[in-house]
Amino acid sequence: MYDKKSERSVEFINDNEIRKAADEARRLSRDKEYVRELIAKSRECKGLGHTEAATLLECDDPELITEIFDTAKEIKERFYGNRIVMFAPLYLSNYCVNGCVYCPYHLKNRHIPRRKLTQEEIRREVIALQDMGHKRLALEAGEDPRNNPLEYILESIDTIYSTRHRNGSIRRVNVNIAATTIESYRRLHDAGIGTYILFQETYHKANYEALHPYGPKSDYAWHTEAMDRAMAGGIDDVGLGVLYGLNTYLYDFIGLLMHAEHLEARFGVGPHTISVPRICPADDISKEDFPNSISDELFCRIVAVLRLAVPYTGIIVSTRESAAVRAKVLELGVSQLSGGSRTSVGGYVDGEDEEDSAQFDISDRRTLDEIVGWLLDTGHIPSFCTACYREGRTGDRFMSLVKSGNIANCCGPNALLTLKEYLMDYASSDVKVRGERMIASQLGTIGKLKVREIAAEKLQLIENGFRDFRF
Ligand code: SF4
Ligand code: SF4
Repeated sequence: MYDKKSERSVEFINDNEIRKAADEARRLSRDKEYVRELIAKSRECKGLGHTEAATLLECDDPELITEIFDTAKEIKERFYGNRIVMFAPLYLSNYCVNGCVYCPYHLKNRHIPRRKLTQEEIRREVIALQDMGHKRLALEAGEDPRNNPLEYILESIDTIYSTRHRNGSIRRVNVNIAATTIESYRRLHDAGIGTYILFQETYHKANYEALHPYGPKSDYAWHTEAMDRAMAGGIDDVGLGVLYGLNTYLYDFIGLLMHAEHLEARFGVGPHTISVPRICPADDISKEDFPNSISDELFCRIVAVLRLAVPYTGIIVSTRESAAVRAKVLELGVSQLSGGSRTSVGGYVDGEDEEDSAQFDISDRRTLDEIVGWLLDTGHIPSFCTACYREGRTGDRFMSLVKSGNIANCCGPNALLTLKEYLMDYASSDVKVRGERMIASQLGTIGKLKVREIAAEKLQLIENGFRDFRF
């Protein structure tokens, strides 16, 4: 039976409920008037239920799709303005005991070299990332209790935070590692991680089991209930995601929103972020093996409807997507982008040589500086802000600030301060000119006079060589 407060995955991600919601969504999506009512409801920014959101996703009327896109843009601007938070993945190890059929790191793939970074190698990767200008990382590692035990992950986090090169520092480490125990989540929390990210891949239990034939990840309940254990372990910022293309998109879209509703119902806090990866070619993996892979057009609709359904949740898009698709979804609700990414172990130091061990092929191969320049040219403010977690604004504290709209008083000036740092320390001369122009034009838009004055003061201090200010 469907029970969003249940501790059991088969009850909070209930198969019958998903099928019922999908049928209803297909039927209701033909009712133009009702779809317009839902669009109007989403403008109140209180979110939508999973059946309501699925109804919008199933709507194929071009005129209504345009209205959904326009509303997504409106909501995005209201909550996130023109800021885009930047981050990069850091792959620590591609040893893995799982059998995920869509990932080249699966245990039985003998084509790729296996590698685990030493602490010294991690330090060098972090310096390379710092020298690009990154402040926020997403740490990635396969599941392998012998090669990548929790102690290794904790030691690596410590190495990352303590590595300093010139003015560089990594100020927020988000962690994407396998589902684990409450005690291990507690230790990750104590190590000062930002968001704990775990993709569900697919919510369809039978397909999940077929796609994960062996290894600890093959246990659907263990994986699906991981966020509950993470929250019980004190981590209150969690990131959800499905890998679109593994299963039918509608089923997984509904499952994802039910998961968000479950966390909100049980812990009072929904997901901090939602990522929208989709099947991507890599060694041993071809797109043709996945008949459910989704088109660019559907991908954009998914992002837009997510923006309407969960207005307070950050949406993340990686370099799996091409520059053209990223440009499109940026307007529809995406709030975080990766840039200059390498998806292989040791890729930032070794460069392209190691790309044969990449977890997925990168479509957007631009450097971070090129992406920053592109964002500036398209009217966005690239932000390297990491302030909230460092100020203790996490979980329900963070959500109440977002819901009241007050978070904008922090995000806006922080975006300018961290962009200024980037321009001073890492930007090419051309990007620096465009960035300074952006800062000058945006400073005056900070609503509160006092905040504006403090931001102007801090910008001058950064110009004078000081670093790391935040609201
Ligand atoms: Fe291992 Fe993760 Fe790849 Fe699965 S997706 S094989 S758990 S690295
Ligand atoms: Fe994110 Fe908080 Fe910075 Fe805003 S102030 S960009 S919510 S870390």
